Amino acid sequence: MKRRRRINTRSIKKIARERIEHLLELAKAVFSTDSNLAQRYVQLALRIGMRHKVRIPRSQRWQICKHCHSLLIPGVTCHSRLRNKREPHIVITCYKCKNYSRYPYKVKKQR
Ligand SMILES: [Zn+2]
Repeated sequence: MKRRRRINTRSIKKIARERIEHLLELAKAVFSTDSNLAQRYVQLALRIGMRHKVRIPRSQRWQICKHCHSLLIPGVTCHSRLRNKREPHIVITCYKCKNYSRYPYKVKKQR
C-alpha cells in the first residue's frame, strides 16, 4: 500500500510563513503584558523559519534584533534613526544588547 502523498514543499513553506507572521503578531500583542512570552514567540518564529528555510518577511525582519533576537518596539526596546550617509538607511539600536543594525532603504524618485 502506498503511503499518502507528501504535501509539496511549497505549501509547507507557505504554512511556515503564515505561522511566522502569526507568531510575530502574537509576540507584539503580548509584549506589554508578558515580555518573556513575547520572546518565546519570537524564538519559535525564528526556529520555524530555520527549519523550513523560510525567511522572515522583510516587513517584519527589522522588528527582531539580529544580535539578541529580542522583539524591537520603537521607543520601548529600541530606537531608530534615519541616516543619509552614503545611502539612505535606518539605524535601529537595541536597548537590550546595545547593538545596532542598519537597514538600507530605497528612495522613490519623484518626477
Ligand atoms: Zn539586541
